[in-house]
Amino acid sequence: MTTTTITTQGLVLRTVPYKQNGRVITLFTEKLGTIGCMVYGITPKNTRLNTQTSPLALASYTLTQKKGSLFTLKEVCDPLIIPELRYRLPLLKTAATFGEAISRSQAEFNPAPLLFQLTKAYFTYLAKAKNPLTLAQSYKLKTMKHDGLCNFQLRCCKCRKNQMSHYYEGDSYCDPCHRRMFTTDSIQFSQEEWHQLYLLTYSRSLAQIDQFEMTPTLEEKIDLIYNQAYQLTH
Ligand SMILES: [Zn+2]
Repeated sequence: MTTTTITTQGLVLRTVPYKQNGRVITLFTEKLGTIGCMVYGITPKNTRLNTQTSPLALASYTLTQKKGSLFTLKEVCDPLIIPELRYRLPLLKTAATFGEAISRSQAEFNPAPLLFQLTKAYFTYLAKAKNPLTLAQSYKLKTMKHDGLCNFQLRCCKCRKNQMSHYYEGDSYCDPCHRRMFTTDSIQFSQEEWHQLYLLTYSRSLAQIDQFEMTPTLEEKIDLIYNQAYQLTH
């Protein structure tokens, strides 16, 4: 039977124990997208393997696969170690948000190398993050952007003149247009909030994104938009 071997960077999303010394890990890989992988040889003494196959570990994984079966882990190297994750709880929460967002948005065997690179950049930046919550919300918006689920506009999509102030089912409307067209509730934004959301989605500079302190109101509105987007598709 043919066995294939592949080496790819990956981020561990979930683990489930398997028999005595094994576990099944869900890995978001650069080359293959999200996959399941068997890991053997997890013993109390083997702390390195234990750590590198635990949730939120990011490293280079060599995997083998016999045709038609699950991947098996052969080797792990070059782990990305962020010591701050161990003692700064807000950073750990943000890292967990990245993992949850991938689990929620990415189907199995659907390669998303750009999203992987983005995730790695956010992870690497965490060590010096001032506003981890802002990074978490920005990452969710960027996942939406990657998946083609947002097209945020600074101006109203109808009249193309006024500044937007209402977000409704994926589009941006000014107050008069929204009132004319809909009777149902929308998510309302102040101009400042919408400019911030726009920057968190489209800015390519993590340092620029990290300058913003997230207000609880904007955090909630981003969650509403994000949850709506993924409820519609999943
Ligand atoms: Zn308008």
